[in-house]
Amino acid sequence: MSLRNIAEGWINFIKSKKPKGLPPEIEEMSIKRAEICKACPFLRSQPVTVMGKKISRYRCGKCGCAFPAMVYAPRKKCPIDKWPK
Ligand code: SF4
Repeated sequence: MSLRNIAEGWINFIKSKKPKGLPPEIEEMSIKRAEICKACPFLRSQPVTVMGKKISRYRCGKCGCAFPAMVYAPRKKCPIDKWPK
């Protein structure tokens, strides 16, 4: 995942926790993607750390991206094309 996608994914993830939330289309996209990832055998329980700090407990075993940030990045693609277009 590119730096731009990583940043976008984390920013959207943080926004999703705020009262104003995300635009409905991004929220819907993230929910659909997350459902697929949670049922995917490649989602691994493997911490993601940045500068020694754990920022996520899961990652995709195919692309290595942090879950759930990856599902919030509109330009990110599933490496095996399981997400809706
Ligand atoms: S991004 Fe794709 S391959 Fe990775 S966990 Fe999600 S559905 Fe599975």
